[in-house]
Amino acid sequence: MPSSLPLLRHYIDGEFVASAKRFSNISPVDGSVIGEVCEAGQDEIDRAVAAAQAAQAGAWGRSSANERADALLRIAAAIERRFEEFVAAEVADTGRPLKQARTLDVARGVQNFRSFAELVRQAGGEFHEMRALDGNDVFSYTLRKPHGVVAVISPWNLPLLLLTWKVAPALACGNSVVAKPSEETPSSATLLAEVIHEAGLPAGAFNLVHGFGPGSAGEFLTRHPEVDAITFTGESRTGETIMRAAATGVREVSFELGGKNAAVVLADADFDKAVAGVLRSSFTNSGQVCLCSERVYVERPIFERFVTALKAGAEKLKIGCPDEEGVDMGPLISRAHRDKVLDYFALARGEGASFVTGGGVPRFGDARDGGAWVQPTIWTGLADDARCVREEVFGPVCHVAPFDADDEVVRRVNDSDYGLCAALWTRDLGRAHALSRRFRVGMVWVNTWFLRDLRTPFGGVGLSGIGREGGRHSLDFYSELTTVCVNP
Ligand code: NAD
Repeated sequence: MPSSLPLLRHYIDGEFVASAKRFSNISPVDGSVIGEVCEAGQDEIDRAVAAAQAAQAGAWGRSSANERADALLRIAAAIERRFEEFVAAEVADTGRPLKQARTLDVARGVQNFRSFAELVRQAGGEFHEMRALDGNDVFSYTLRKPHGVVAVISPWNLPLLLLTWKVAPALACGNSVVAKPSEETPSSATLLAEVIHEAGLPAGAFNLVHGFGPGSAGEFLTRHPEVDAITFTGESRTGETIMRAAATGVREVSFELGGKNAAVVLADADFDKAVAGVLRSSFTNSGQVCLCSERVYVERPIFERFVTALKAGAEKLKIGCPDEEGVDMGPLISRAHRDKVLDYFALARGEGASFVTGGGVPRFGDARDGGAWVQPTIWTGLADDARCVREEVFGPVCHVAPFDADDEVVRRVNDSDYGLCAALWTRDLGRAHALSRRFRVGMVWVNTWFLRDLRTPFGGVGLSGIGREGGRHSLDFYSELTTVCVNP
């Protein structure tokens, strides 16, 4: 009997195409199968890369920055026209609150195309004059050119936001794109292919392939010799594998990887704002944001009071289905990821943690018990070298520890293989500037978190990544600069 479930296909050379191998798209809310997805093999990857190369030789390769900016604006408008479909797709794959999908995920998808359209129109090259030995006035200028074919590999935690954050600047700079979204979240990416098709980009300028990483679409794409640059968001270990693939042919990479981020609360902070801020930074999206705070350091005079208030706040968070009134937290992305998080809960017990709250699975007594839920969880009492304090859990959990001095907290924040971001809560801006300079991270938030001006650089140090994207930093990664020196 033919299945009534939607079949998500690849988008290659301007057409939606199916492939024989399939996998299931599973709802994290209750574990039900919500769709079938085609899995790309080497053949589909070869066709997608060939189409992308052909687009470089054709109209897309000859397009002007203004024409591409117009195309990006058409894509943004097309997402807006189908806004609620995107919201439904994002919510079906991730189980996140509807409100978050509307105000963050899909809204940012639109903004990503708009902001890079504007940026690329204004992106000029450099111009320099000099006097040559023959006395002539020589001038040099730079041309901004695409790399050619860019592979975009994206994760499941903020699917549309993170995919468009890379696809938009890659297209703005004139590259052809072959994108592979996470196998966990294929739906909004497929809709993106539909709206890009509607927006009338030349065939091959944007291609979408579905599948897994190792031995599947991700590996075939990143190993493909005709891919000129790779941009990846995901786990640090996957980044290492992709970097090895990119070494062949010395291809450029941009990596946004994991984090084990710190929030630091000074005793002079606005207490209620700091508690609300840490609740947000630890539990937003069920802790599945690379920027989430899994380590919280609180200045000793307010430590006990802070832990009590954070516990009360975490216990008030409403866990539930996307469309439930006032819901704060949905499920994790999958049962497999939930099991990984629960393994960390068990490890934390073994490492001597006190569970201030949480540590288990909520029981609903309905279909949701087949889903991927965990309770918001707070630990105290772990040593700085505990694995649970050093390794990224990527779930709704934080460890809270007291500290006594600025030098001490700087040392502990920086004692990490990761270095993505830190959040600092204080009324003393002098101390905030001094600490921000000393934290070994790519981004520091003071009295806020997750607030982004899209023109600012985004990225981390150490295991958290290579390079910066955002605003002109994205344009720099997605283009090759050629210097032309003219002696008239
Ligand atoms: P992941 O590394 O498992 O997968 C990410 C993508 O890479 C998926 O599309 C996957 O199919 C693909 N992939 C996996 N193995 C591959 C391989 N060998 N070759 C090519 N592609 C491969 O990551 P995830 O679990 O989807 O995402 C969660 C991780 O992403 C967390 O570590 C989180 O911190 C990180 N993240 C970082 C940022 C950032 O901006 N720094 C943002 C979001 C998420």
